[in-house]
Amino acid sequence: MKAWRFYGFGDMRLDDIPVPPMRPGHVLAQILCVQPSVTEAQLAFGIPTLAFDKIKQRLESEAPVQLFGHEYCARIVEIGEGVTRFKPGDRVAARAKLPCGQCALCVDGRASLCRKGPIIGFQLPGCFSEYALLPEIALTHVDDQISDSEAACLQSLSDSVAAVETAALRIGDSVAVFGQGSMGLECMQIARVSGAGRIIAVDVRPEACAMARELGADYVIDASQEDPVARIKDLTGGNGADVVFECAGGSPKQGLAGIASLTQAIDAVRSGGSIIGVSFFGAPVSLPIDLLRERSIRYVFPDISTLQHLEHTVRLVSSGRVRLKPAITHVLKGIDKVPEAFEITANKGKYKAINPAQVMICE
Ligand SMILES: [Zn+2]
Repeated sequence: MKAWRFYGFGDMRLDDIPVPPMRPGHVLAQILCVQPSVTEAQLAFGIPTLAFDKIKQRLESEAPVQLFGHEYCARIVEIGEGVTRFKPGDRVAARAKLPCGQCALCVDGRASLCRKGPIIGFQLPGCFSEYALLPEIALTHVDDQISDSEAACLQSLSDSVAAVETAALRIGDSVAVFGQGSMGLECMQIARVSGAGRIIAVDVRPEACAMARELGADYVIDASQEDPVARIKDLTGGNGADVVFECAGGSPKQGLAGIASLTQAIDAVRSGGSIIGVSFFGAPVSLPIDLLRERSIRYVFPDISTLQHLEHTVRLVSSGRVRLKPAITHVLKGIDKVPEAFEITANKGKYKAINPAQVMICE
């Protein structure tokens, strides 16, 4: 089969490799649609972010290595021994982070807290290939009403479901979302159907602001034109938002906000309110801790998404409560287009992309 393998940072090649042999508890699946996550796209070019050191080590000791590709839709062609929930022909999407099944947390029934299990595309081969061997515990059925292209977004959406659950919204809470990339738009829409009161979306890109408006934000602030903190205070009776999702931070070289959006989130949340940290910054960040302490601000980070979160994404999308299609701006055809998808996804601002660029591997 054809599979993209990494020989180093910025060096990916389309190789012919054997189809992986079947294992118990696994399925062999044909990849229909796959997209790099923003983190994967940055790592592919050697930009420091989450898991950079681990990827660098794998490249130095194992290259060529099949890396990345945990956001995909696939069709099962064969099932391994012990697989009960799926049959050949089923369409599936997957979660990325898997429990190890052996540590004290897993044995204790708290597998969702496990950090020792493998991640698809990082420790396990991902799906920038024609076929992949996938663990059954990662997978969910994809509803017929969901397209291959939308299904490739479900993994990221399940992380957003976990992020909104972490926020523990109360009905009527005012919610501000900094950054209207794919996760910002997802958190915004999930918060909306999970009891949020007024929803305020913030971005600096006109196309992202327009998308937030289309997908149901009550107020959209173009932070390149006006001060988002002053406007959020104004919209919340001077208090600030009850909950702020910070989804814009990261390297300015990739068009992200640095730590400016985090500083603004701290100023825009009400005292005793919560900031949900969705962004990865790729470097240590200096914070006004005493100010957070003084104002009793909860700066919390999303839990890992579980199979239950992933299954909920299928309901959210097939019922139309969350819309993914409008944000899918770049769809490429053919496995040879994968490097182009990495380039676009690593530089979404430059290409006016909202969702990562997708590749239809097989039609
Ligand atoms: Zn474990």
